[in-house]
Amino acid sequence: MKAHDGMYIDGAWRPAAGPGVIEVVNPADEQVIATVPAGTVEDVDAAVRAARAALPGWAATPPAERAARLAALRDVLVARQDEIAETVTAELGSPPKLSQTVHAGVPIAVTGSYAELAATYAFEERTGNSTVLHEPVGVVGAITPWNYPLHQIVAKTAPALAAGCTVVVKPAEDTPLVARLFAEAVHEAGIPAGVFNLVTGLGPVAGQALAEHPGVDLVSFTGSTAVGRRIGAIASGMVKKVALELGGKSANVILPGADLARAVNVGVANVMSNSGQTCSAWTRMLVHHDQYDEAVELAAAAAAKYGDRIGPLVSATQRDRVRGYIAKGVAEGARLAAGGPDSPHERGYYVSPTVFADVTPGMTIAQEEIFGPVLSVLRYTDEDDALRIANGTVYGLAGAVWAADETEAVAFARRMETGQVDINGGRFNPLAPFGGYKQSGVGRELGAHGLAEYLQTKSFQF
Ligand code: NAD
Repeated sequence: MKAHDGMYIDGAWRPAAGPGVIEVVNPADEQVIATVPAGTVEDVDAAVRAARAALPGWAATPPAERAARLAALRDVLVARQDEIAETVTAELGSPPKLSQTVHAGVPIAVTGSYAELAATYAFEERTGNSTVLHEPVGVVGAITPWNYPLHQIVAKTAPALAAGCTVVVKPAEDTPLVARLFAEAVHEAGIPAGVFNLVTGLGPVAGQALAEHPGVDLVSFTGSTAVGRRIGAIASGMVKKVALELGGKSANVILPGADLARAVNVGVANVMSNSGQTCSAWTRMLVHHDQYDEAVELAAAAAAKYGDRIGPLVSATQRDRVRGYIAKGVAEGARLAAGGPDSPHERGYYVSPTVFADVTPGMTIAQEEIFGPVLSVLRYTDEDDALRIANGTVYGLAGAVWAADETEAVAFARRMETGQVDINGGRFNPLAPFGGYKQSGVGRELGAHGLAEYLQTKSFQF
């Protein structure tokens, strides 16, 4: 891992304006592994100025050339895949295999998808007597969380660059190292100076300065609903465009007739992956009352198997928050079928894979996002009851439906208030739009829909 003292601004690593630093901790052993500068308003201002200055040139660069730079970036990420995976393991604590396949693999796929889209997208179209141009929105301020640290940066940066926008990224405090590695990759890929800039720093300081900067045209934020609300208020006050990817409390609906063992096992794996730190995780499993006891037993057995295989949570704060939710679940009358609040290791921010049974829809653990390896199993009486429970939270990010056949699952999925539904175990598709209904967010990421978020139209009438 390389150490830098500065920020990546205008194509070079520059000293930070202030002396403050942020310590980066390995959550598996609680050791400080690096420090990065805590950026200030001045650093953010320098980065936004660089992005503004680079905007006319990049916006006017032919899409085929932007595509070529993104393809080069993908190739650098491929060449540095091991280093990316090791860095994410060190700062997030994710197991090496997950770091390789997901934390490094998905950003490579997404960058590649935008290299292709930039080359093929119709940036100009005809309708009646008009020509409609799809032009870049301008300077993008991207504020990202730690849970999929490189993916979250790439899911904003790759479409923004494909669209002809320039970018300033403020990554999460807990995981700034892979963000720096990404800035090095951008540099190696020959992306012009100022097109991509990185400022590390604290959310309420550097993040807020970025959201408030008058030189930023679009704020793209992924993180908690609480911060998303503030950013939405700042953006609307300044009439800026805003994209918000927020929390989730997704339902995994198992209809009678589905392959119960498969649905439960895939459902548990979905929740335990990345130690439960996935906004789209299916943290509520909905099972018909006739199959309820069997499902709980299967889920508890599946969770127990994860005991030693999941990584820690990202920080002591997150661990304590998740333990607090487990305690609350017990206090509100849910039954622990697996796991519990005790830590399975002496060191590191670990939480045991936990399954709650006898969870009712109004309980805190059935309503609030826990962001840890905690599954709630709820019972329903019939399909309408299942739908009421599935739709009965403020969130609507993702979900799953399992049924004897696809038609039945799709009929149910059509009635769900959520942005993504996996049918009978359908795979993740990096080209499908990702984003939330209700309080899970505003806007979409990934694929052509994700690209459209960074474009605005101009029509010429003839
Ligand atoms: P967070 O909201 O605390 O932080 C996210 C980012 O916002 C960080 O970079 C942080 O520094 C910054 N930030 C914090 N306060 C800020 C402020 N006042 N102004 C500007 N920026 C500020 O969230 P987190 O704890 O890092 O992430 C966990 C949350 O993110 C969960 O709720 C999860 O569901 C959500 N999330 C959603 C998605 C999605 O795609 N929908 C993806 C990942 C995470």
